[in-house]
Amino acid sequence: MSLLRQPLLLLSRSALVKRAVSGMPVSAGIVRSYVPGETTESAVGATAALSEDGLRVTLDFLGEDTTDAEQADATVAAYLDLLQQLAARGLTRHAEVSVKLSAIGQSLPDVGHKVALENARTVCRAARNAGTTVTLDMEDHTTTDSTLMILRELRKDFPETGAVLQAALHRTESDCRALAYEGSRVRLCKGAYLEPESVAFQDKLDIDKSYVRCLKVLLAGDGYPMIATHDPRMVEIASSLASRFGRTPGSYEFQMLYGIRPEEQRRLVANGEHVRVYVPYGTEWYGYLMRRLAERPQNLTFFLRSLISKN
Ligand SMILES: Cc1cc2nc3c(=O)[nH]c(=O)nc-3n(C[C@H](O)[C@H](O)[C@H](O)COP(=O)(O)OP(=O)(O)OC[C@H]3O[C@@H](n4cnc5c(N)ncnc54)[C@H](O)[C@@H]3O)c2cc1C
Repeated sequence: MSLLRQPLLLLSRSALVKRAVSGMPVSAGIVRSYVPGETTESAVGATAALSEDGLRVTLDFLGEDTTDAEQADATVAAYLDLLQQLAARGLTRHAEVSVKLSAIGQSLPDVGHKVALENARTVCRAARNAGTTVTLDMEDHTTTDSTLMILRELRKDFPETGAVLQAALHRTESDCRALAYEGSRVRLCKGAYLEPESVAFQDKLDIDKSYVRCLKVLLAGDGYPMIATHDPRMVEIASSLASRFGRTPGSYEFQMLYGIRPEEQRRLVANGEHVRVYVPYGTEWYGYLMRRLAERPQNLTFFLRSLISKN
């Protein structure tokens, strides 16, 4: 595991550094490579361009750890606006939305769980009316139980709601078994958060082994696996497991982040795979960017250069 991962992930939660770094214009090189823009229009534009290349999309209005109910409401309103604009442009057949529950109220003291559930319901209803679905992103391990409970509640009315599970957590193989049922959309990722040894694997090799065990459970199961990784080995293993378990493209999909390995995204599409690109947009890009830098500290040089040249 990279020596820089831990400090960068700690910084991702620092309000002070967030203020300093967020002064950068979004066009600064490194931010722009991961986030197409700040507005709904920029997100819809990026969706249209990706769709033309045969890629599917999931859109994330950036924001997390909201402790302000008004901010949570504003995030819900942003999703409603986005869904309306996607529908108006005829893009919802191949574009869904990803929602972080902590951006819509989960971290509010006392009422967090209830508010997040109500807000998520509102977004799910709007997504269904627009002809698409919602996937609930997964955040750090302190939120896993609450997020999976909210998922269960939402699926009573909106069974198409997607879940995310993180291979880094010890519990995940068992969560995969519980969620590998018919109609259940599950995104499997490695996990982007700094987690303690008590709940999570720390070595890359152990996380990768867990990822493969979870892939087997999901691909052998009856649900719809969404294989979210840029790791060439994981992509290769997933492809061979998919054919071993008699899965045809469209009974599962690959997912990658906007701006990461774009040529690989298109290569998979050319091979007949379904590929969905996660497109984050908005002004609250700080936490997202820091997690991406933690995954690839080589990018830190570009990042520091764009910080220095901000004037
Ligand atoms: C669609 C999608 C949705 C996600 N949703 C969640 C979520 O809800 N919750 C969560 O905790 N995590 C989420 N993640 C993040 C995930 O958990 C990992 O942190 C992230 O994907 C990096 O892991 P990896 O599987 O790509 O493998 P890694 O082992 O990190 O990377 C493998 C290779 O991918 C390339 N690569 C990886 N990162 C970068 C980068 N930043 N820039 C350039 N190249 C890079 C490099 O070639 C690297 O060697 C999501 C990831 C994707 C793709």
